[in-house]
Amino acid sequence: MKIIMAEHAGFCFGVKRAVDAIENSLKTSKEVWTIGLPIHNPQEVARLEKLGLRVANDESEIPSGSEVLIRAHGEPLNVIENLRARDVKVRDMTCPFVKKAQELAAKLSGEDYHVVLLGDKNHPEIKGILGHINGGNSEVVINEDEAEKIAKYSKIALISQTTQREERLATVAGILTRKSQQLHVCNTICKATSERQDAVKELVKNHDVDGVVLIGGRASANTSKLRDIIKSHNIDVLWIEDENEIESNSDWFKNKNLIGIAAGASTPAWLIDKIKTQLGVRIEE
Ligand code: SF4
Repeated sequence: MKIIMAEHAGFCFGVKRAVDAIENSLKTSKEVWTIGLPIHNPQEVARLEKLGLRVANDESEIPSGSEVLIRAHGEPLNVIENLRARDVKVRDMTCPFVKKAQELAAKLSGEDYHVVLLGDKNHPEIKGILGHINGGNSEVVINEDEAEKIAKYSKIALISQTTQREERLATVAGILTRKSQQLHVCNTICKATSERQDAVKELVKNHDVDGVVLIGGRASANTSKLRDIIKSHNIDVLWIEDENEIESNSDWFKNKNLIGIAAGASTPAWLIDKIKTQLGVRIEE
């Protein structure tokens, strides 16, 4: 069995920046808080917790006077303001690409656009973007069917969750063209996402792989998109979180000669290396 790596895989710029900031803060502080998991990868969270990371379920759990790091997904504006008012030291590590989407939502809402966010309404990034619209009209759609149900407005601004697929953004933009005389489309899909998506497409289209091992946390939205792309090319995919899942899925590897490896933007390099090593062991057996 041979393995071939996708050209772009693992930590994106925004996640690496936030994780590095947590590690740096923990060099001088005994503990640092985040609201919610800083990254959708349980193995990396466990490693950071050993260093002193504390994960709060919501802002109210963060003690006054402590240090909180805003994760790459961002937070609603009022959450950051409430924390500062309680004398919490806030380090805002919202990814600059997410920040851009937040700023566009606030600006266009202020210009009387009906803001349509393309994404998952339960995802923290979308909640954070919504939290930057000061009382303006907005709604979230997850797909083309929901976009078809939107009423007509004189001005619509379409903004995307950074992890959406470009094809879907283009289709939804086409639908909204019929709903508004003035449509402002913001392609806020980040390069890291499209690079990983393109690398996976390249892997399944050009290399005759018999299957792809996809490494990433089960709650990772961008990993889930990679799975959809692989499946849309009718290629077998094995989505795993860690190296232990290789042995428990040993049947999946039977009769496969060439295996692709891909990983979501929240998968740390050390975990990818561990899995490559484990697969290397399998190859030699
Ligand atoms: S996927 Fe893109 S937008 Fe999201 S954290 Fe990474 S670099 Fe930032």
